[in-house]
Amino acid sequence: MPVFSHSRILSYETCPLRYKYAYIDEIIHEGETAETYLGSRVHEALEKLYRNLEYGKLMSKKELLGFFNREWKKNWTDSIIIVREELAREDYRKMGEKYLEDYYKRYKPFKEGKVVDLEITDFLPLDKKGEYNFFIRIDRLMDTGEGLYEIHDYKTNTELPAQESLDEDRQLAMYSVWVRKEFEDCKDVRLVWHFLAFDKEMDSYRTEEQLGALRNEVLAKIKAIDAAKKFPANASKLCIWCLYKGICPVGSQIEGA
Ligand code: SF4
Repeated sequence: MPVFSHSRILSYETCPLRYKYAYIDEIIHEGETAETYLGSRVHEALEKLYRNLEYGKLMSKKELLGFFNREWKKNWTDSIIIVREELAREDYRKMGEKYLEDYYKRYKPFKEGKVVDLEITDFLPLDKKGEYNFFIRIDRLMDTGEGLYEIHDYKTNTELPAQESLDEDRQLAMYSVWVRKEFEDCKDVRLVWHFLAFDKEMDSYRTEEQLGALRNEVLAKIKAIDAAKKFPANASKLCIWCLYKGICPVGSQIEGA
């Protein structure tokens, strides 16, 4: 029963060889990049903030940053890879603090709707037999009333995407298919991205027709990936972030990789 996440599909689209290393050969790379580490620590701090709110406790900014810094220190290991030579570990920690400070200032007291749940994970069946499934992972699901739900996603990217790319985004759109299926009163879903490095919120909507077409497209793509027999390397500027470049015959020859 293949389960495909957005990142798994994206991995194949970006470089079939990297996909093979990660998902077929299952070569576990013990390291992670400082960018991934930063993203994880910021996500867990925001989860902590909203979990406490469920119990009626509003964390102060100092408490939130204290939690972030404790977890940062506790989880950091020497296997974390800093790709960008101009940056040091402390620079990443400060970035995380800044993201959380800006978020706190912008959204306090965090009453934009009812939190349905945090860090939701589930599977969305894509075919009638349930053979192909899409992995769901929602940072925060909100019910704003009158059938409108919101999927909130935190991003620590240092590039701000164009609105057009969000209007074609696959990840949150597929999550919204799951929301529409799970909640009978759901009439529409607002897709919300928090680009923390820019202190910017962006959003997008999909029609049911668009979601039907997307679902079919994703199923066809997953079937094609599942049936693939060849996994060519696709060298690009993204190779510098690839954790497999040390074993890849192509990536190690690219300048800067
Ligand atoms: S280093 Fe580049 S070409 Fe090699 S597997 Fe990674 S992404 Fe693909």
